[in-house]
Amino acid sequence: MATPIGNLADFGFRAVETLKKADAIACEDTRHSRPLLDRYGIDRPLLALHEHNEDAQARRLVERLMRGETLALISDAGTPLINDPGFPLVRLAREAGLRVVPIPGPCALIAALSASGLATDRFAFEGFPPRKGPARLALFGSLADDPHTLIFYESSHRVEATLRDLAQTFPPGRRLVIARELTKLYETLAMTTVDAAPALLEREPDMRKGEFVLVLEGAPPAPPDGGELDAEQTRILKLLLAECSVKTAVGLAVKITGARREKLYRAALQWSGEQADAASSAG
Ligand code: SAM
Repeated sequence: MATPIGNLADFGFRAVETLKKADAIACEDTRHSRPLLDRYGIDRPLLALHEHNEDAQARRLVERLMRGETLALISDAGTPLINDPGFPLVRLAREAGLRVVPIPGPCALIAALSASGLATDRFAFEGFPPRKGPARLALFGSLADDPHTLIFYESSHRVEATLRDLAQTFPPGRRLVIARELTKLYETLAMTTVDAAPALLEREPDMRKGEFVLVLEGAPPAPPDGGELDAEQTRILKLLLAECSVKTAVGLAVKITGARREKLYRAALQWSGEQADAASSAG
């Protein structure tokens, strides 16, 4: 069940009542959860379930469930399994035919999206972007054309690098909401654009602190020409791709031809995919 992501008053009534009745509560870090549970008068045994013991602990917990116990699962904050432990336990429990009851509540991505002002009808949650720059840029490049609102989690250690990479990969003007410290004292939801975001953090050092959700506007619908490149754009992009990485080639082609970044990315990724296929069938 979900627990608060900052403001302890966000703990749901049903969650509290259910925790009070559980035989035991599985949580990520017993020292972290104890103060929250104490505050709500919940005095049940705690069991640690974290990324280092998940598989073995999930098997033990399912055995207990099969003996008829009622167990609750919480994480440090928000909804378990959403970038938090719990997946092996839920999967095993369901495979064993046990009843798994969700008790919904706070979740940082939904809180950020619902207050972002960006489209909520179709969205994609991408979790934490890769920590290493090249992998991060590659992921962002592959998403440049995605029409869904894109949602990322990020920590204060990497938010500046991630925003710089977003600015490099997505077309200028693409709207971005930086949601930080949701439900807490310094909650901020700043609407900006990918190109303006790095300067915003430089101007306002407090914007680099805390926990972050980045909500990025999806790509606009393809233009009526179907997004095809014309002959000159094709020639330039192919020349550049022969010499540089997809990212550099697309970046240069945007500057030289003035064509839309999404359109160039789509063509570049398609050609490099075709070349890789041809090389693997030749080998
Ligand atoms: N299970 C959680 C949920 O339901 O949102 C997410 C856990 S994940 C390990 C932690 C990340 O969620 C943080 O690094 C941050 O990106 C995001 N997050 C959690 N609480 C937040 C908050 N109060 N404000 C902004 N982002 C938050």
